[in-house]
Amino acid sequence: MQLEKTIAGVKAQVQIWKKEGLSVGLVPTMGYLHEGHRSLIDRAVRENDRVVVSVFINPIQFGPTEDLESYPRDLEADCRLCEDAGAALVFSPEADEMYAPDFSTYVDMHRVSEELCGKSRPIHFRGVCTVVSKLFNIVTPDRAYFGEKDAQQLAVIRRMVRDLNMNLQIVGCPIVREADGLAKSSRNTYLSAEERKAALVLSRAVQTGKSMILDGEKDGDKILAAMKEIIQQEPLAKIDYVEMVKWDTIEVHHKVDGPVLTAMAVYIGKTRLIDNFIIEE
Ligand code: AMP
Repeated sequence: MQLEKTIAGVKAQVQIWKKEGLSVGLVPTMGYLHEGHRSLIDRAVRENDRVVVSVFINPIQFGPTEDLESYPRDLEADCRLCEDAGAALVFSPEADEMYAPDFSTYVDMHRVSEELCGKSRPIHFRGVCTVVSKLFNIVTPDRAYFGEKDAQQLAVIRRMVRDLNMNLQIVGCPIVREADGLAKSSRNTYLSAEERKAALVLSRAVQTGKSMILDGEKDGDKILAAMKEIIQQEPLAKIDYVEMVKWDTIEVHHKVDGPVLTAMAVYIGKTRLIDNFIIEE
């Protein structure tokens, strides 16, 4: 497996593959890879001749008070995981390789990016859309893989690809969880032992919401109230949002009468965790 730090190096390699008629899959990540990322890479390896994993902590998607500096990093372990999974290339550029000092072009989006995480992270999706567009231009993949763990991000990317006529397929992959239900996340490493236990309120709320819907409940207000009650019982947890939206447009919608996303962001101590479930009807 090849490790590339430069855009030119990636482009040269992809060009060789394309000349050979090989298909290319891309898995964009911020590194510190775990089994959630691994599930995306595994699927990409099954569906493409060559797989590129990008490992890049994208500074422009972090707000001024967020965890850019402390975000966990371990490129060696990431490369081992990628090689073991059968990826062909890891692209891990430095920030100055991706952003010239006078960088001035952004991909911005309205509506889909404005609810849920967009409210508390106002510049986040602009940063995500911009870096993902750049990665698509650099790697020119046939398919790109994103986790439903970041469900709004997946909806945002799908909308960007549709709106800007980008020529690739976006593949969404289910959430991978720890044995006790906590959604796997690089940010789980921030949690103390006590917080790790408290963090289970997110997946418990997800389970409760899901079972209410499977039992026939259609009233979003009742479902959200039950979920919030579970989280509020945990003293270490502070709700950022618990919300139900239409799955494709991310408009607030408190009725289960079509595909809906029920998503939450909850602080456990200082760590902001997200979780969700999707009902595709
Ligand atoms: P990140 O490195 O956190 O930016 O995540 C990179 C990609 O992996 C995103 O598409 C995430 O949605 C996906 N991902 C992260 N955690 C999980 C998980 N537990 N299950 C499935 N996909 C995940």
